[in-house]
Amino acid sequence: MICRLFVGAETEHPQILFADIEPEIALLTGHRLESDQGVVVVLDRAADDHSVTPGHFHFKPKTAVQVLNSDALRLAGLVAEQYFVSAADALPLMLPPYLKRQPKLPERLTAALPEKPELSAAQAAIVEAIQNKSAGETGEHILWGVTGSGKTRIYEYLIEAALERGEQVLLLLPEIALSGQLMEIMTRRFPEHTVLYHSGLSDGERAKSHAAFISGRASIAIGTRSAVFLPAVNLGLIIIDEEHDASYKDMRQIRFDTRTVARLRQQLPERPLTPKLLLGSATPTLDTLMRARTGEALLHRLRHRATGQSLPNVFVPPYTVQSGLIGPFLHDKMHEHLSEKNQVLLLMNRRGHSTHVHCATCESFAECPRCSVALTYHKDNVLRCHQCGFQQDYSRACPVDGTPRQLTGRGIQRVEEILDGQFSSYSYARLDRDTARKRGFADDVMQTMRDGGIDILIGTQMIAKGFDIEGVTLVGVLAIDQMLTAADFRASENAWQLLSQVVGRSGRHKPGEVVIQTMAPEHPVIRAAQAHDADAFYQHEADIRRKTKYPPFASLARILMTADDENYLHRVAEKLAGDLAPANTAQLFASDAAATIELLGPALPSVNKIENVYRVQFLIKAPHEAALRTYATRILPVLHHYRRNFKTQLFLDLEPREIN
Ligand SMILES: [Zn+2]
Ligand SMILES: [Zn+2]
Repeated sequence: MICRLFVGAETEHPQILFADIEPEIALLTGHRLESDQGVVVVLDRAADDHSVTPGHFHFKPKTAVQVLNSDALRLAGLVAEQYFVSAADALPLMLPPYLKRQPKLPERLTAALPEKPELSAAQAAIVEAIQNKSAGETGEHILWGVTGSGKTRIYEYLIEAALERGEQVLLLLPEIALSGQLMEIMTRRFPEHTVLYHSGLSDGERAKSHAAFISGRASIAIGTRSAVFLPAVNLGLIIIDEEHDASYKDMRQIRFDTRTVARLRQQLPERPLTPKLLLGSATPTLDTLMRARTGEALLHRLRHRATGQSLPNVFVPPYTVQSGLIGPFLHDKMHEHLSEKNQVLLLMNRRGHSTHVHCATCESFAECPRCSVALTYHKDNVLRCHQCGFQQDYSRACPVDGTPRQLTGRGIQRVEEILDGQFSSYSYARLDRDTARKRGFADDVMQTMRDGGIDILIGTQMIAKGFDIEGVTLVGVLAIDQMLTAADFRASENAWQLLSQVVGRSGRHKPGEVVIQTMAPEHPVIRAAQAHDADAFYQHEADIRRKTKYPPFASLARILMTADDENYLHRVAEKLAGDLAPANTAQLFASDAAATIELLGPALPSVNKIENVYRVQFLIKAPHEAALRTYATRILPVLHHYRRNFKTQLFLDLEPREIN
């Protein structure tokens, strides 16, 4: 029997139209769907002697493996509804990479489970609460634990308990290259039960993991945000580690938030088991914490380090531009710690050597020809665009007037020069996107660090994540002020998260110290970090968001409009502004909901040209999500009209992570 599954391809009708099939018997080709492809052929298992070529699909049932199941189809429907896209846009997220030859599956795994890890009293109480309590119907839990408090132990225990019940587990991590030891711990602990799913793997490896998980042969899938869509048989637990991490926000077509998709998975109808969702972090987002306030999630806190080691002393010495990249206070502290054979970590969150190349004669800065971004000078004598990767050789003479140019703005490579001069008897390594490009470099550095072969590690935010190095007793923060003043409502929260993470790297096993060099010592982020007073930070941040009406106290959406021609873009954007204005769209509303909507823009984002594409944005502010979604629903036809009739691209982002 040949059955067909129709997928609504028109974005106006985001729904899956089930035709003459049971979703349970869906066997799809491994083809990725393009949004203009509306039909997928689905075959009954009994039909494996057929070979058909409907339209442009070529399908050989004998080589088919199951790539979707009913849950995945339903999830595609929910995702489509959530993000105002078609199911045909959502469905590819659940499909494995297309392979000409399907992967061989491993046998069903029956390896014995290891002993459960030992838990402290505090950890055991949390495990107990997560297993037996839930907030309302949601089964959503937040694990807020200071760095080193043993969140990983709790994950291990819960995973093992789920496996004993025959359930599957999804463990999601931020970018794999940066996720440090957690993946290593889990794959070592449950080697027979675990598959990996992330973009660092080959298509073949990913297809194999996909097949192993959807067939139930593997019980644990560890991956990045794309793994949140992995179809499962009997999903019992979803863990999102470092839930505050920006990489959980997708910035491509659908612009989904991994946490939202995980919640959608909890809502799938017609299933015996509602998976629990556990969001773990040392620095949760305010949005997530608010869910504990409203009763949508249960909050569990670990306030102390598992080793019993107290949190490090944090110093904020007087600091000015004249203090130099490593001021006198930090300089002395470094010598003190290094002479006692301890290790030092320095955070400098800017790549390259000099952030600007300036000509005083014509008053120009070197700028990327493709982006509205200054080029950064790197010590290999190359200017690089950190937005698009463009690079050109550097010459000192200004290309306009030939006079010598100046290098200004401090980057991480300048720290190396200081270490060469003032700490020449100590070894150091630099870890940032430039050095980590070399395969295996980050792992090597971390291993050498652990073995004590490196005295000083300098790095960008890469070093703040997940690494636990016993010998580190001093952390120096060299540049955080730029983050504090970024034009984004989450700027303080982002700075707080980075600062807390890096502070937590110090003295995990013996007493540690931290030095923060800042010209804003009174900033609430700095004060809270110095006092280890997370509650004070969140309280202050919540007050500001409430006053300025930003999430989680209001709902926000962003419309990004892009075009190749700058003038054209601005003309169309002005026109769209008129068409979207709540006053003009009032007739679209049955109620007076329009009156509660604020439309801001068109405005220039902080980077208004990327790779020769110009950008403007609108922000939509609404008092709550329902109002925002009502407004978004009503303006969708307007957006579609613009998509069809103007040479601009339009992106609607309902959960913008950044708005600068
Ligand atoms: Zn010049
Ligand atoms: Zn560029």
